[in-house]
This record gives sequence, structure tokens and C-alpha cells, in this order.
Amino acid sequence: MGFRDEIERRRTFGIISHPDAGKTTLTEKLLLFGGAIQEAGAVKNNKIKKSATSDFMEIEKQRGISVATSVLAFIYRDKKINILDTPGHKDFAEDTFRTLTAVDSVIVVVDVAKGVEEQTEKLVEVCRMRNIPMIVFINKLDREGKDAFDLLDEVEQKLGLSVTPLSFPIGMGYDFKGIYNIYEKNINLFSGDSKKNIEDTIAFDDINSPQLEEFIGEKAANELRENLELVNGVYPPFSTEDYLKGTQQPVFFGSALNNFGVRELLDCFIDIAPSPRAKMAEERLVQADEKNLTGFVFKIHANMDPKHRDRLAFIKIVSGTFERNKPYLHVRQNKKLKFSSPNAFFAEKKEIVDISYPGDIVGLHDTGNFKIGDTLTEGELLHYKGIPNFSPEHFRYINNADPMKAKQLYKGIDQLMDEGVAQLFTLEMNNRKVIGTVGALQFEVIQYRLEHEYGAKCTYENFPVYKACWVDPQDNNSEEFKEFKRVKQKFLAMDKRKQLVFLADSQFSLQMTQQKYPNVKLHFTSEFD
Ligand code: GDP
Repeated sequence: MGFRDEIERRRTFGIISHPDAGKTTLTEKLLLFGGAIQEAGAVKNNKIKKSATSDFMEIEKQRGISVATSVLAFIYRDKKINILDTPGHKDFAEDTFRTLTAVDSVIVVVDVAKGVEEQTEKLVEVCRMRNIPMIVFINKLDREGKDAFDLLDEVEQKLGLSVTPLSFPIGMGYDFKGIYNIYEKNINLFSGDSKKNIEDTIAFDDINSPQLEEFIGEKAANELRENLELVNGVYPPFSTEDYLKGTQQPVFFGSALNNFGVRELLDCFIDIAPSPRAKMAEERLVQADEKNLTGFVFKIHANMDPKHRDRLAFIKIVSGTFERNKPYLHVRQNKKLKFSSPNAFFAEKKEIVDISYPGDIVGLHDTGNFKIGDTLTEGELLHYKGIPNFSPEHFRYINNADPMKAKQLYKGIDQLMDEGVAQLFTLEMNNRKVIGTVGALQFEVIQYRLEHEYGAKCTYENFPVYKACWVDPQDNNSEEFKEFKRVKQKFLAMDKRKQLVFLADSQFSLQMTQQKYPNVKLHFTSEFD
């Protein structure tokens, strides 16, 4: 198979949802279709279950599980499918945001009864900003839930999408009879049997055929016809082009647990979902089929084995091939590195590979060379952008609790920040260090890991911040910016990339500051043009 064919057959995507909507179940069923696993239960749910006793070792173990499930790959109808795991727990939302920079498309899972939930809204917003193609899967149709049209409305309004259904449920919950597949023009009847498979599909080109009554009864047949008429009247026809541009999102209905509607979703997905796309670097647009390797680090995972404190850096290959033992340029450090045992991921295992292609993820053992966002090339000085930091939600001063271990503490903080566990801000006024996290859980994880991995102790002190805003002075020498710096000195800090950050202590003070210094732009993410 040629290089271009290898690229064309790859589909690298993420499944996003609010916890409990069915992401793990769907992932598992997809893997079953690929024959990559033999039985249900093989995919571990990587949900962080915080126990009442705050057992940190437990959190660590649970994080450990997610190393194995970070990338799940399988082959289906000759396509190489890479699923990148996206933690649903809100405290790990930043992990998910970063993973979304490495996917070429996304499947959004929505619970038919709960509708669109908070975490889904946040994640979809990030995908929308980047025009990532999205397919929506409405799950748990075997349960009583919201009316299909109401749900489609809710998805459009809350998620800001323009949907068009590619399947439509026949009944729901107790009366759930099956699904009409608009994309393939066939009917899938539901038997409530989890071993249900493709043979049960009945081709149905003409929805007006009296045969429909035979299969689903008169009442359901009439209802389905009416519903499909309404679908035709209200929603635009599906356009692959619009889907790929991120301006239209097809919707499927089903039940992951019963493996119902999953095959339809997968078949449509591999037809329409994009193969690895070109990616913008600071310097230029890089096409997937360029000969030379380029790739970037989107995730770093600490090794859970205390005897091997190395880490695993996850690289998304954007162009060219990644070959074992070939030297590549680590652009930020300007040094050549060779990797003797790059890992590839297959089903729930990882193994050493000789060659990987665009769209693939390789895991590299790392002793501290990599930071999230680092670029690897064959010599070109290229920097991939697009892993912005978002304002953390929680802020605390971090203090050294063991003066003899200051060096270990700073090394530990430095490395944990490179892994993307949290963000570090250094106050302009007194150089004190402030840690910002998305969830309160991270403070405990940091404290625990500093102690167990670096032998350092820390304490925290509250630091009330409403939001961190990255400062864009527009004109460094303006009087306005000078005054802003003087008056707001107490609230200014540097992030790890040496970008100036304004730590607003309340929504009110943020608004006042924006009004008073209209030319000093404040951004909620670290990347802006
Ligand atoms: P995740 O948190 O999004 O990964 O959700 P899980 O896949 O772990 O599913 C959460 C719960 O919903 C589990 O108890 C599943 O068995 C259940 N579930 C998933 N899909 C379905 C479905 O189609 N129907 C029903 N009734 N339950 C489902």
C-alpha cells in the first residue's frame, strides 16, 4: 500500500460527551465491530471516581487506566481507525481540550433522556471554534426520553450546531421498534437482544410501501412517514462538504448498550469522516502527504510504575512517516533525538512499531525532554500552534513546606506543568508562585505527586481569582498600557511561556478594567492573533 493510501485509510477522532452519556459503551461496541476485542467489558472506563476518603493512590491508579485507553486503534472495512480518549470528568477538561487538537473529527454522544449537558456544551464549543467535523449520536433510545424533534432543537440551540438527521427512531423506550436509516434507506428493527447484528437490516427504498405496516404496524408506520416528511421539510439535505467544513452536523439515533444503530453510525462515519487533514503551523500550512515527518506532542502521561519514572509523550503525526531509530529534530530544544521503542496502540494494547503514518499516534518514552505542544520534524524549524491555555477555575499560592527540598519542589512543579496538569503563574510584584487548575482535584494530585515522585512537600494558600486573562497591550509603549501595568501591578503575573496575565479578582473588576483600558485587550485563552 502506498503512502497516500495509508493516509487516506486513516480516521483519527475523539468521542466527547458528558459523563455517563455512554462514551465508553459506544467505544467498546465500535471496537467489537473492528474485531479488535472479543468481548464486552474489555474497555475500561477511565472515569475518575473520587472516593469519600480521597484515596490519592486510587486516583493515580485510575489515571493509570487511562494510559492504556488513551488511544484505541482498530481496522474496519480496511480503514485504520484511531480513537483518542477524552476524559469526561470536568476536572480533566484541559486534557480533553488538548486531545481535541489531535483529532480530525469528533462524535458527540448525547443521552436521549438528559439531553445536552454542561460538559458537552463546553467541548463542542471548542470543536466549533476549530471547525472540526462532528457527528452527533443520540444514545439510550431503549429508554424513555425526550421527543426526537425537541432533542434536535436542543442540540441546535445549546450546542450552536446546524443538524440534519441521518437516521430517525421508530418509537422510543418501551415502544422503541427500531430505526429508519435515512443515509442508507433501510430499516433496522429492534429486538432488545444485544447480539443483534447486521442481518436484521431490511432495505427500504420506498417508505410509502405498504410493507412498512407489516413490519412495524399501522400506527408506527404512519407516524414514521409523518416524521420523515417533517424531517424533509425542516432540515436541509445532508452535504458531506458542509459536514467537512464544520457547518453541518449529521445526527444518528441508537442504543450503544444494545449495539443498536452503532453499525450504521460507523459505516457512515468511515464514508464521510475526514482522513488526516492539513495542519497550520506558525510558519505555514503542512499537508498530510508531505514526505517529511512533522508531528506534535498533545499529551504527556506520567508512568505509574514507581521503578520507571519516565513518561510517555503522545505525538500526533501530521505529515510524513515516523520511523523507529531515525533521528528527528526536537525543534524547541534544537536537538536531534532517536527513539528505539516508539509505541503504537492497538485495541487496548500498546506495542513497538517500526513505522507510523499521518493520523497515527505514537507514544515515546521520555525522561523530561518534552512539553505539551512541542514539535518534531526532520530538520525544518516548524512550530505547531493551537494548544492554547484556558483560564483555570481555581487558584492557590503554592508554598515550599520543606526548605531543604526547594530544588526538588521547583523541578517537580516544572515537570508537572509541562505535563499540563495545571498552570503556573509567577506574580510580577513578589515572584510568588500561583497554581491554577480546572478542578480542585488537581491540587491534591499535585501535592501527592510532588511528594512521591520528587520527594518535595508543598502547602497551599487561597488566592481569590475570578479569571486569568492573557494581556495583549497592542502597543507596548502606550501611556495607557504603562498606566495599566502600574495600577494593576498587584494582579499581574507571567505564565510559563512568559506571557503577561491579568488575574482579575472579580467579574466586576474585570469589567471595570476593560472599560478603563479599552486598548489593552484581555483574552480568555493564551492564543490570539
Ligand atoms: P461514559 O461515562 O460516557 O463513558 O458512559 P458509560 O459508557 O460508562 O455509560 C454510562 C451508563 O449508561 C452505563 O451504566 C451504561 O451501561 C449505560 N448505557 C450506555 N449506553 C446505554 C444504552 O444505550 N441504553 C441504556 N439503557 N443504558 C446505556
